Amino acid sequence: MSKPTVYKNFINGQWVESSSGETYENRNPANTDEVLGVFQKSNVDDVNAAVAAAAEAYKSWRLVPAPKRGEILYRIASKLLERKEEYSADMTREMGKIIHETRGDTQEAIDMTFYMAGEGRRLFGMTTPSEMVAKFNMSIRQPLGVCAFITPWNFPMAIPSWKMMPALICGNTIVIKPATDTPLSVVNLLKVCEEEGIPPGVVNMVTGSGSAIGQPLIEHPEVKVVSFTGSTAVGRKVSQACATNFKHASLEMGGKNVQIVMDDANLELAVDGALWGAFGTTGQRCTATSRLICHKDVYGKVLEMLAKRAENLKVGNGLDESVQMGPAINQQQLDTVLSYIEIAKKDGARLASGGKRLTGGDYDKGFFVQPTIFADVTQDMRIWKEEVFGPVLAVAKFDTFEQAIEMANDTVYGLSASIFTQDVNRAYTAMRDVYTGIFYVNAPTIGAETHLPFGGTKETGNGHREASTAALDVFSEWKSVYVDFSGSLQRPQIDNQ
Ligand code: NAD
Repeated sequence: MSKPTVYKNFINGQWVESSSGETYENRNPANTDEVLGVFQKSNVDDVNAAVAAAAEAYKSWRLVPAPKRGEILYRIASKLLERKEEYSADMTREMGKIIHETRGDTQEAIDMTFYMAGEGRRLFGMTTPSEMVAKFNMSIRQPLGVCAFITPWNFPMAIPSWKMMPALICGNTIVIKPATDTPLSVVNLLKVCEEEGIPPGVVNMVTGSGSAIGQPLIEHPEVKVVSFTGSTAVGRKVSQACATNFKHASLEMGGKNVQIVMDDANLELAVDGALWGAFGTTGQRCTATSRLICHKDVYGKVLEMLAKRAENLKVGNGLDESVQMGPAINQQQLDTVLSYIEIAKKDGARLASGGKRLTGGDYDKGFFVQPTIFADVTQDMRIWKEEVFGPVLAVAKFDTFEQAIEMANDTVYGLSASIFTQDVNRAYTAMRDVYTGIFYVNAPTIGAETHLPFGGTKETGNGHREASTAALDVFSEWKSVYVDFSGSLQRPQIDNQ
């Protein structure tokens, strides 16, 4: 067997080994015999070197005109498009999600890069009249410096690009620590950045665990912005670490997303939506549909249709184009899913479909579990309240529309929600009253587009949004500029009263 490729850290435009001298293997979760590569187990010295490079590069990168920065981003997007198939296949091998979805993940990175390239010729501020004569007022965006990114494994290229591209176009420099399970997709993204002319030190990467290098990275005094996507538990730690030095922290965290099915819904469509929302990406999306609530008059019918369809989903290696659901990312995630299945049973939920680890043949080499549906879930059960981050759907019943809204909001999270109904009044009422950052009508809870704000309320986020122009607010600060060309001292609020 050939030796696996050794991938290095990317610091100051060079691919370098960690000073720890240690590495770790990255294996395919659909076939753990396959080693995708060997990655650096970095340490604090590597973090310090990466931050120092980013701080130095910031001095010149911030002065590159934004349209020029945009031109580099255009080239990166075009190159990603050329390599879409290759990088998507790498991503399926490292993360497990099916090839149709990894093509979507790479496309999301392409879309975001093109979008932010265009921002290079906008980055609009405001001009506004002064209350004084012969005085000019404007506001402009300014970069902050070194940004640290901590990213999860479920969108290995899309999420890093959501952070990287708006940060770069604003004139910041970057150190990214990818999730331990999915560094290859970030290596691929950085290779393209390097080839297309991002100057040395502007983008840096260190691989390794959250506790060993994530924490020192976010605590580094030179880091001015931290953008984190991951669990609420780790996000809380990140938030606390940033508070001490008043660092900007943008946090995108967990979800317990709901799909509401009204009695007038197109049931075929609602079931299509629930299946895709719950079992797409093996349920490992922050926006995954993990709660389905149905009006009592259609509850039985929806459950029956859903269970039949879920049983027939083809689970396997995502490189096979006919496979509809891949494995869990790793043993730990599989164990979490299996433990929640037991918890749901113990709490009294009725297993309507799935519920088991898949074994035998090629399944034994990966972390496969059946798409699982629990019926008769009640609001006191843990399966109703807690994020599983796997292919487990909790289904519950409601009597009235008002009750549906109350149930939808009965969660500590606030990322995404959806309603299936033909009634425009109910659709708009739900849109107004369900307190989430993202809301869908007659569409599943997953499927964001890059030019709209992305993020959640309550314990999903801390008020920031990714994607769209909202992302620019995370990576820039407003400067208000007043130019007085009157030649005399003019005191606002005093001399003009
Ligand atoms: P995680 O919180 O375990 O890890 C996320 C990242 O944080 C990883 O890179 C990890 O190495 C790092 N990390 C861990 N401990 C750290 C520490 N003490 N200091 C600094 N960094 C540390 O999450 P995960 O398992 O990779 O991803 C799943 C979670 O991410 C789910 O809760 C999911 O809902 C959430 N998520 C949210 C969004 C969103 O946009 N809201 C998107 C994707 C995933």
